[in-house]
Amino acid sequence: MGSPTEPKVDEVSGRKLALIFKLIGKGELNITPLIDHSVGVRYPYIEKVMELKPEEVRELLESLTAEKLLKKSLYDKVFACPKCASINLSPRGLCPYCGSFDIEKKRLLEHLRDGTKFVVNKLFEGVKPVCPRDGMELEPHEYRVLASWFECNICKRKFDTPEVGFHCITCGLDFKAREGEFLEVYSYSLSEEMSDYVEKLANLKILAESFTSAGYNVRFIENLEGLSGSMHKFDLVAYKIEKGKEIKVVLDLYKGEGEVDGSVVISMFAKVLDVKPDKAVCVAIPSLSGVGKNLAKQYNIEVVEGSSAEEAASTLSKLVR
Ligand SMILES: [Zn+2]
Ligand SMILES: [Zn+2]
Ligand SMILES: [Zn+2]
Repeated sequence: MGSPTEPKVDEVSGRKLALIFKLIGKGELNITPLIDHSVGVRYPYIEKVMELKPEEVRELLESLTAEKLLKKSLYDKVFACPKCASINLSPRGLCPYCGSFDIEKKRLLEHLRDGTKFVVNKLFEGVKPVCPRDGMELEPHEYRVLASWFECNICKRKFDTPEVGFHCITCGLDFKAREGEFLEVYSYSLSEEMSDYVEKLANLKILAESFTSAGYNVRFIENLEGLSGSMHKFDLVAYKIEKGKEIKVVLDLYKGEGEVDGSVVISMFAKVLDVKPDKAVCVAIPSLSGVGKNLAKQYNIEVVEGSSAEEAASTLSKLVR
């Protein structure tokens, strides 16, 4: 936490944060696409919660990714029109010689009982071919396919495999498979930086209860102006009016894998010195180094430790009561 890549929350617009918090609120951290051939790539859930059009959603997700709030992963690649990028395509088989779409698939069948060989044009599943000699409708076990090929109705040539082509329903372009382009389709999830930030906010909310139950008003990620005129950001600022005087408590939260390094106290002290709050609290989860604790004592910064935010909150409650 507190790494340089952490998203600058105050620079993220309210609309974007609203999306993030809606997603978190619903436990919906993975945004998956729906490939809707008539509209394009859609994210129906975001369309609904944000009341946005499909193309606006795509732009929003891309800009959130650029700001490192979301990360994207490749979900699918779809064929797209090389002219207008539409994915509203109708596939067709084309004659590899003259390019016509007017081709037939032909099969040579043999009626097993009487040895009659005959050609059929279409053989959809469940359709029974009719033997031209005896007029019998043949079940699958009564005939076999001797050969299959394609034939062009225009140039009359025969071939094994048709060329695959597409007709773009959006712009009308006809193109061959090898002329098509691919469109990447992505799913999105919270970036690691954002997950850290979200976790931090969740922990701050737990800590905030210690203040609110003691009659404080609480603000998260608050910028305060110091005596020098510079702005300083604190993770949490709590205010209370007591006997006509405003009491202001600032709090920074640090979380480490093991004990939190004492240097955090030094950077906090620089801000505290300028802002001069009534009380400054450094919360370290799970603990602060011995050096850090000594520095905090000298600088008059209260230290609260706890293996979890809940544990720290119960210590904090005694401190702000
Ligand atoms: Zn042809
Ligand atoms: Zn027959
Ligand atoms: Zn097109």
